[in-house]
Amino acid sequence: MHFHQKTLSRKIQISGIGLHSGKAVDLVLVPLPADSGIWFQRKDVPKAAPILASSANVSSTVLATTIGNPGESVSTLEHFLAAAGGLGVSNLKVEVRGPELPILDGSALPWTSLLRKAGIRTLRAPGSCYRVKKPFRLEDDGRLIEVRPAAALSIEATIDFPGYISSQTRSFAFSRSAFVSEICPARTFCLEKDVEKMRRDKLALGGGLDNAVVIGENGRVLNPEGLRFPDECVRHKILDFMGDIALAQAPVIGRFTLVKSGHALNQRFLRELLNTPGLVELASDGREPLPPDFSLPALSVASVAMAT
Ligand SMILES: [Zn+2]
Repeated sequence: MHFHQKTLSRKIQISGIGLHSGKAVDLVLVPLPADSGIWFQRKDVPKAAPILASSANVSSTVLATTIGNPGESVSTLEHFLAAAGGLGVSNLKVEVRGPELPILDGSALPWTSLLRKAGIRTLRAPGSCYRVKKPFRLEDDGRLIEVRPAAALSIEATIDFPGYISSQTRSFAFSRSAFVSEICPARTFCLEKDVEKMRRDKLALGGGLDNAVVIGENGRVLNPEGLRFPDECVRHKILDFMGDIALAQAPVIGRFTLVKSGHALNQRFLRELLNTPGLVELASDGREPLPPDFSLPALSVASVAMAT
């Protein structure tokens, strides 16, 4: 089984509210040829250049992951990138009419559905991946990210918010079907005590119970529909990590351990992992590094409209 690059079968459009601005955002996903990567381009800013979804282009990690220079930057990429990475789609352009991607339901589920609705097209070109060669660990103020060499991608995450969410640990062995059923539906979450502060700071103006889980004291869930999983919050940490490491531009194969991770530590970890000589090796032999167990919808090549 070989691992081939993927793009979309056709353009597809979606609209939604930006989490931090509270404003409506229109967005179009455009297929790209092999070896293009994932690009973001502001369509509301005249002559804004496309920005490659790469860890080298990360400009902020405050509450969400942002790439590009002020004025042309694009924020809140991580749930979309987790969906694209989870489905193995690595060539497309995201044209967005605003500074952030829509939050949708706060999970990667609507993004996964959108990508699958457009159709996933397998290209001839082999895919590449990073294989972890040596253990690497980054610790900061009680937070930790660690990776060890392994034949497959797995992520174990732990969170602990005393008084709100008691310690939760979850292990996730990557497969496309497990990603779709176990991780991608997990919504973003915040603590009730932080909601007021975010509003004062004019952050999360588009946030509400329809796009985030809000946790009160002693784990009380404010959303009337409750949780999608008893450990939805720790699953979302795995989702965020998958989105953040997608900025490596190729899957990173190893056994990861996360303790109280967040966007800032995720990006620092990724930069150091990729930039420290000898820690990873880029393998572009097209050997399938991920279990190929997820059958994506059959596609008609005749209907493919490739962008140039
Ligand atoms: Zn998130």
